[in-house]
Amino acid sequence: MKKFIVGNFKMNTTLHEFAKYLDEFLPLIKDCKNVVALSIPYTHLMLASQKLVATNVVYGSQNISTEEKGAYTGEISNLMVKDLGAYFTLVGHSEIRKKFRETNEQINQKIIRALSVNLKCILCIGETRTERNSNKTKMVLKKQLEVALKGLYENELKNIIIAYEPVWAIGTGKMPTVKEIEKTVEDIRQIIMDMFSQNSAEKICVIYGGSVNQNNCTNLLKIKNINGLLVGGACLDAKEFSNIVK
Ligand code: PEP
Repeated sequence: MKKFIVGNFKMNTTLHEFAKYLDEFLPLIKDCKNVVALSIPYTHLMLASQKLVATNVVYGSQNISTEEKGAYTGEISNLMVKDLGAYFTLVGHSEIRKKFRETNEQINQKIIRALSVNLKCILCIGETRTERNSNKTKMVLKKQLEVALKGLYENELKNIIIAYEPVWAIGTGKMPTVKEIEKTVEDIRQIIMDMFSQNSAEKICVIYGGSVNQNNCTNLLKIKNINGLLVGGACLDAKEFSNIVK
């Protein structure tokens, strides 16, 4: 089965650097059967719409506004992102939750906005180190999922990808054990079953993110019920990311 491999550029690369990156990256992965997705800065969306047409790579934004238009200086809306051909938006990344105090309720609004213009959502969820140490992981993920997915119809879940990203694993070189990730993915599917149905729990796409690199990706992809990976730092090197994708 095809895996969904996402590269999250965060706030990295100028437009010129991104263009050079694509020139190197695209030939390396052109025969790859996995779904490759680039989560890029807003300023790169237009270039992506030109360079990624007729390739096996989709692209999207790293966030959208809770609002559709109006007096929201500095914000970017669902429509603006969709207008530039984006396939998805990331929502709820822990860096935004933490630095901008984004709430689960705001994430829910963003998901509803995204789905309303046919943008898929990669919903990031995850526990802090303290929460894991005090056995609160499942409880935290349950709250994040219940609020973020509130009001969604079951048939909309096909447009949601859940990215399990332990906060303490992002950019740190640390990560849970394979067994721990397997158990958490099971918990996530259980929560989706309780909220929706067994069928949705089995079908929903769940990916793992947090310190993924070319050395650990193969083992991570062997984890039961994992549908792909979200790669931050390691996606910035075209060669390394192409190795992960392959
Ligand atoms: C991320 O940005 O979502 C991420 C997982 O980062 P890293 O791979 O650098 O830990």
